[in-house]
Amino acid sequence: MSSRRRPHLFVLIDALGWQVIQGRNFLSDILPHRAPLRTVLGYSSAAIPTILTGVPPATHQHWNLFYYDPTGSPFRWLRHFRFLPDALLDHRVTRRLLKEMGRRWLGLGPLFECCVSPRILHLFNWVEKRNIYGRRGIVGAPSIFDRLAEAGIPYHVYSYHDGSDDAVLRRAAQDIETGDGTFFFVYLSEMDAFLHYHRGDPDKVAAQLASYELRLRALFATARKVDPEVSLTVLSDHGMTPIRAKYDLLAEIGGLGLRMPDDYLAVYDSTMARFWFFSNQARDKVTAALRALRCGRIVTDAELERLGVLFPDGRYGQLVFLLDPGCLFSRSDFNGQGWSPAAMHGYHPDDPDSEGIFLANRPPARAVRAIGDVFACMQDAAR
Ligand SMILES: [Zn+2]
Repeated sequence: MSSRRRPHLFVLIDALGWQVIQGRNFLSDILPHRAPLRTVLGYSSAAIPTILTGVPPATHQHWNLFYYDPTGSPFRWLRHFRFLPDALLDHRVTRRLLKEMGRRWLGLGPLFECCVSPRILHLFNWVEKRNIYGRRGIVGAPSIFDRLAEAGIPYHVYSYHDGSDDAVLRRAAQDIETGDGTFFFVYLSEMDAFLHYHRGDPDKVAAQLASYELRLRALFATARKVDPEVSLTVLSDHGMTPIRAKYDLLAEIGGLGLRMPDDYLAVYDSTMARFWFFSNQARDKVTAALRALRCGRIVTDAELERLGVLFPDGRYGQLVFLLDPGCLFSRSDFNGQGWSPAAMHGYHPDDPDSEGIFLANRPPARAVRAIGDVFACMQDAAR
């Protein structure tokens, strides 16, 4: 009898929503224990750290990627260039240059993107400086990988840092065969981009799911050869909601006669706008304009707190405006011009299209309803 621990595989498929797999037999024969997972308000930058730590963004401190930090900003030096005209300062070449600088010289990690206007970038910091899949990669809480390392449990984690989904799955299969790990966390990132474009095309979605199904079946078969008792869990961080309407909030707020950054700051993500105010007049004007809109609403502090994303110091915004499911800002800092997705995520967690998935070959030892509950399953597996 071998003293090896039973291997556990967790595969996170970014953005594969419960509604996308509903009515399809995606791996239902080998993974019969299935549940929708409630996500957190925000994007993968908030959801994946929640999965990896089991605590909400307000605790692990990763919400949106940019946060207000005028004294700690790695781009403070940019304030000397504020005299430059927008045509130059906000040019796509300037943004690309800032992206490269952030990645290569400012220690912001390989995923840094310049999704804030360069005119106000000197006031912002970037939360994902470290690899969130590495040791101490998450600012405010230990992740499952920290726990595994402390417990001396050999594990493997794979993400886009290791190549394409195909490359990642091949490497995972090799490592499982060599048998030098008992805990495998495989992050597959490519489904997100696919669904942004093709969420509404049933044939393309079916073909894409079939291709993942094939590769995951092969991975499971490999693992079962090593140990027939292996456990496999396939999960996702959030879903994907079809786009039905677009709204140009940038034009609306830009037309209020307020100056940025003197009167206020605004960061426009795909589905959320975050504001900071430096005068009562700015706060009143923006608040009144947002209240008059029908495409979304201001999320109150009480609700942000219930959702686990309230930051009392206002670093992620003193006021948060959230679009209704299916609405999209026609211009934002996050989506470059010309990017026109058919589907988006980052809506209220109550939106059924925003739900993620939990699919397992064995019944979980506890109820799994929200993405943060997966952490406890991973801890159980690591015992
Ligand atoms: Zn996405």
